[in-house]
Amino acid sequence: MRIDILTLFPEMFESPLNYSILKRAQEQGLVAIAVTNIRDFAADRYRKVDDKPYGGGPGMVMMPGPVFDCFEHVAKLAPPEGLCRGRPALEARAGCPRHGRVILLTPQGTPFNQSKARELAQEDRLILIAGRYEGFDERIRVGLNAEQISIGDYILNGGELAAMVIVDAVVRLLPGALGDEDSAKSDSFSVGANDDLPLLEYPHYTRPEVFRGLKVPDILLSGDHAKIAQWRREQSLERTRQWRPDLLERGDREKGG
Ligand code: SAM
Repeated sequence: MRIDILTLFPEMFESPLNYSILKRAQEQGLVAIAVTNIRDFAADRYRKVDDKPYGGGPGMVMMPGPVFDCFEHVAKLAPPEGLCRGRPALEARAGCPRHGRVILLTPQGTPFNQSKARELAQEDRLILIAGRYEGFDERIRVGLNAEQISIGDYILNGGELAAMVIVDAVVRLLPGALGDEDSAKSDSFSVGANDDLPLLEYPHYTRPEVFRGLKVPDILLSGDHAKIAQWRREQSLERTRQWRPDLLERGDREKGG
């Protein structure tokens, strides 16, 4: 997979992209992540990328010119060779398509969730565009025919953190990104093995066996894997019922229940 991020603050990505799973996934060639500065595509010598809104009002708006020029430059960059390796559906095509999915980060977009992360992880190319100021000139959304994604009903100062959230959630789903593939399958919001409900994950315990008077449940020390699996399933259901009943209702609705 290739992910391009278009931003006015490329330095913000240096640290998050260079640790742990994201770093390893790039080193293993599972994903190539490129960050491009929209300001490099400003037309004037002041490197201006924003201007006052027509009709008046507070703040500044991102101008369409630099974003379009930056996008057109990035879209032409072919995914590096080998990125489709190990992904037969993509290998079968004549080559990875150049554009992939074009996503504007905006609080007005479709809310991001695990199912959207799974959907995006199937793509071979994503182009994420981070906004700033009051947001994008509307012609950017229309002209690029971009889909819009929000990471929640609150306002961030810019789309960079939202882009990082999406990259992080998507990359951990790429085959080979996690040490143990099963770990993503049992994560919260992933579809349960038995009944297709997206549950919260069961509770975890590690050493010591007793910590400040709190003991690890006996069942986890029993060595009986069938009983442990059943206990975990019950715990998942119980905490989902208690803390996120909306997930169960949504699951039922999606199954037509
Ligand atoms: N005036 C805009 C509005 O009310 O819809 C908000 C602009 S916000 C201050 C600046 C930029 O931050 C946005 O263009 C977007 O890229 C990003 N942003 C803010 N909140 C976001 C969210 N919840 N999800 C995704 N991106 C967000």
